[in-house]
Amino acid sequence: MKLRTILISFTSCSLLLSGCSSIPNPFSKDDQTEEQPSDQLSEVNKDENKEQNQNDQEQNREKDSEKDSDKEKEADKGPDLPAPEETVEVNAEGEKIVTNVMDPLVLVNKERNLPEDFVPETLTIPDIPFAFEGDHPKKQMQQAAADAIEDLFAQAEKDDIPLLAQSGYRSYSTQKVIFASNAESNGQEEANKYSARAGQSEHQTGLTMDVTSPEASFQLIEEFGETTAGKWVKDNAPKYGFIIRYPKGKEEITGYQYEPWHLRYVGKEHATRIHEQNLTLEEYLGAPVEPVNSSE
Ligand SMILES: [Zn+2]
Repeated sequence: MKLRTILISFTSCSLLLSGCSSIPNPFSKDDQTEEQPSDQLSEVNKDENKEQNQNDQEQNREKDSEKDSDKEKEADKGPDLPAPEETVEVNAEGEKIVTNVMDPLVLVNKERNLPEDFVPETLTIPDIPFAFEGDHPKKQMQQAAADAIEDLFAQAEKDDIPLLAQSGYRSYSTQKVIFASNAESNGQEEANKYSARAGQSEHQTGLTMDVTSPEASFQLIEEFGETTAGKWVKDNAPKYGFIIRYPKGKEEITGYQYEPWHLRYVGKEHATRIHEQNLTLEEYLGAPVEPVNSSE
């Protein structure tokens, strides 16, 4: 919260911390002094008065355009965002457990865990091509995210972009097995850079889908970002409500290596803002950035 407090400046607020949109605007209309009417002046001063009026009018026009740009600034801040400190509770083990589990803006990372028993209520399989055959729980997403990804894939098809889905919903227990396996192969520290501990995976939210393409050999690899499909996804995903959750150059903030394949649903409006401002979800929500503990 320190970062948030320091950075609260009403001019840079919208760019740095959209989360501060809930702070009352000190320059609100109520505080602006009204212009005094100037119709009680003597004949002698009429010419001067005319000039004065013209000046006043110009000033008023300037003021009006200032008001307009204030409005624009306000609009740019976007809607009220869930404050990170208000969407967690600390459990008996001292772990932060997120409370807004069904919010499209739910923030899950190495500091913020989903409850062990959390299963999204609206899991469904989107009608999109997958990179593997047969039914599997990992084909699922929450309904809103599934609808959105169907639209994204439909547009990809129209644009002749070969895109395939690889992995969506993952339960707490599945994630536990995956992390244990990765840790056994590469050690906990290494595994923690690319794999999430149980409760800390966004895949448990049902709001994410990993995607790939033939050019990336149907794999989830960094090279996907440089493929035609990878570039297309980066440019187009926000229009359908998805962000690249772990962008390049933001590893210290997200705690994860660059993952051009990991799409996270947040809704169109938020995705567009996050994309345009080149933010991570942590930055967008004004979450404190805590150094990733690499000695685990
Ligand atoms: Zn993923």
